[in-house]
Amino acid sequence: MKLVKSKKIFSRLKKSLPGGVNSPVRAFNSVDSFPLIIKSGKGSVIIDEDDNSYIDFVGSWGPLILGHANPNVISKIIDTIRNGTSFGNSTKLEAELAEMVIKAFPSIDLIRFVNSGTEATMSAIRLARAYTNKKIIIKFEGCYHGHGDSFLSKSGSGIAELDESISRGVSNLVISETITLPYNDINSVETIFNLNKNDIAAIIVEPIAGNMGVILPENNFLENLRMITEKYNSLLIFDEVISGFRVDYGGAQTLYNVNPDITCLGKIIGGGLPVGAYGGKYEIMKMVAPLGQVYQAGTLSGNPVAMSAGIATLKILKSGHIYTELEKKGAYLEKTIVQEFIKKKIKIKFSRSGSMFGIFFSSIKIKNWSDVQLSDINFYKMFHSKMLEHGIYLPPSPYESFFISVSHSQKDLDRFVDVIKKL
Ligand SMILES: *Cc1c(COP(=O)(O)O)cnc(C)c1O
Repeated sequence: MKLVKSKKIFSRLKKSLPGGVNSPVRAFNSVDSFPLIIKSGKGSVIIDEDDNSYIDFVGSWGPLILGHANPNVISKIIDTIRNGTSFGNSTKLEAELAEMVIKAFPSIDLIRFVNSGTEATMSAIRLARAYTNKKIIIKFEGCYHGHGDSFLSKSGSGIAELDESISRGVSNLVISETITLPYNDINSVETIFNLNKNDIAAIIVEPIAGNMGVILPENNFLENLRMITEKYNSLLIFDEVISGFRVDYGGAQTLYNVNPDITCLGKIIGGGLPVGAYGGKYEIMKMVAPLGQVYQAGTLSGNPVAMSAGIATLKILKSGHIYTELEKKGAYLEKTIVQEFIKKKIKIKFSRSGSMFGIFFSSIKIKNWSDVQLSDINFYKMFHSKMLEHGIYLPPSPYESFFISVSHSQKDLDRFVDVIKKL
């Protein structure tokens, strides 16, 4: 594949943006490769500035469950945009999207729209601290909750040790109020609750982890988190920014039948435009301003154009048999990819929920971040660039989820497997 114009544009980008990008993973540093500079996308395919085309299994990191430039979504956006792009006042569209989300998520009575997943999680923990009058937040290693200060930490050396910051510029005070524990490890959660009985405001968790590859909750992990938070009067926050409307219309909480107190959403609910949201029981959400005293605001929050992209997307997702079809495609890819690697005698672990999946080059069972770290990163880098050369775009990092969209055809899926055959 030739990259002439792309290289020129990236040099230009580097002169005005840190590292040439507006979000670090786009620089492709984790796969030691040259970043894609995209010109357009349609359905399952994206085209770069040098007119190379790729079948896209990243889907803008999750939002594009319908593929690129879905005609219904685009026409709804255009209809809305003709009447203006932003008012900073309420519109009917906010009611429409809110009602759709509330209907889809039984645990949500009231919802607040924001502009990103990061804003949703930041606001959710502020609300949890206000509601419980406690300060500590428990999160899990390998889960990602955006770039809010409270989340930029990793666990200390021992289980009862304080967290350490993973970014410069974050106050130690903030970090000291977050405790990071291993995913799928309910014993460590119990230990921490025993040590800090009355201080834990909330547990925040990706109910299906999608930011360390894909890892499913095991041994009733979610049910146990629900029980323990109830026992100690702490809140349970599900970060469903990826899993919401992805693994099921009602998210992972519907799939696993566990109701959190607060749910964070993003990605798919914006239909490819910037939307995030947090919502929960009336009792908790009534604390949000102007109804209550937890301050949280946004000039462009509930933006009509973004709302209409979300509405158009959810309407399609709700109709027909979208999730059954996505499950079929996911199962097909899983079966055929695993078969190919077995033939090649390459050890992989494939984990999947519907149309989101992860491939680990590893022979051990993967249940948390320490397991993930034992997988073969260099092999992933090689895999990524070989696939890219053959027109298959996979996440440019070994720790991100792959996504299948409604627009991926059987031919697209077979092409994926054919390229693996050639490796
Ligand atoms: C992407 C993501 C976020 C952050 O959302 P942004 O819109 O990138 O700020 C938060 N939580 C999870 C689980 C995510 O995958």
